Amino acid sequence: MTSSQDHLLPLEKDDQTGRGILLIYTGGTIGSAPQDPMDPHSPQIVMPWRDLKTSIPGLDRLGYPIDAISFAEPLNSCDIEPYHWQWMADIIAQRYDDYEGFVILHGTDTLAYTASMLSFMLGHLGKPVVVTGAQIGGVSFVRNDAHQNLLTAAMLAHPKAHGLKCIPEVMVCFGGRILRGNRTRKVDSFRFQGFDSPDLPWLGECGERIVLRPVYSLPIPSEPLRVRTEVERDVIMLEMFPGIQRAKILEAILSQQAPKGIVLRSFGAGNIPTEKGFLSTIQAYLGDGGVVVNVTGVGRGGVNMGLYDTNQQLLDLGIWSGFDMTPEAAMCKLMWLLGQEHDDVQEIFQSSLVGELSM
Ligand code: ASP
Repeated sequence: MTSSQDHLLPLEKDDQTGRGILLIYTGGTIGSAPQDPMDPHSPQIVMPWRDLKTSIPGLDRLGYPIDAISFAEPLNSCDIEPYHWQWMADIIAQRYDDYEGFVILHGTDTLAYTASMLSFMLGHLGKPVVVTGAQIGGVSFVRNDAHQNLLTAAMLAHPKAHGLKCIPEVMVCFGGRILRGNRTRKVDSFRFQGFDSPDLPWLGECGERIVLRPVYSLPIPSEPLRVRTEVERDVIMLEMFPGIQRAKILEAILSQQAPKGIVLRSFGAGNIPTEKGFLSTIQAYLGDGGVVVNVTGVGRGGVNMGLYDTNQQLLDLGIWSGFDMTPEAAMCKLMWLLGQEHDDVQEIFQSSLVGELSM
């Protein structure tokens, strides 16, 4: 393994025998507790996996071992960086044959990015990788969503033990919903149903029973796992707003060291301002070899380039359509594709690799 191992605690083996699951603990609210145990309103800090593990009744009664690898310094997920994604993918690659499936415990803020990126990094995935977190931590709050989310994620990661069909993909299990990882968005910072996949039906639902809809999940691949973790970090996301055309933001960004790629979060079905200076700045950037992709800043529906004269112009300029990809998936896919050796990045970006787009 890479030097990433220095940043991981040693594998914690469960006492139970048999083939189990591997849990990767990165941190997040799910494992957080108030800094001052006497003051529930004091700022929360991320606790070690052991503290969360011992607070979950029933985790040891699922009937199979739950081994764990924890980040040596578990994070609030707003501090996630691309190298953390590489650690997670490396852990799964190295232990792929030893487990039925994998659970990743993660903060909710950037969980959709992590789920998206792992779906690209873990090519031909044939086992469940279930990403979850919580709105209320499970270490010290009695009323929480952490325990249910974690237990259900563990069950999905070991489908055989629970009479479930295997979903061989990176998925998000949260608030009773089972979602394709690269279609997931954080949609609520308050309710337990914090995530949704606006442009793809849920892969399943967890209520009194766990009900899966395999018709929506990816098939079991015929090829072995292929892990590719190189990414291009030099990609930015830019949200449109009225006034950006004369705000000179883009010009300022591009005049220094221009990024390799830009994800534009456009208006509606893919529109951006048509002001000449703004468009010619983009044109010059594209002419210098930059890449611009277009995703909608609206919550659902995707972009339809060519629908209006305004976005037909963007196609003519050479901007790529992100179709109905989420901004998170488009950002991760672009970082990942620009980090690989590919002859036709545009064609690959605009086709579905792991169910991330449907248009
Ligand atoms: N800021 C926290 C994090 O992303 C929020 C959470 O986990 O819900 O780690």
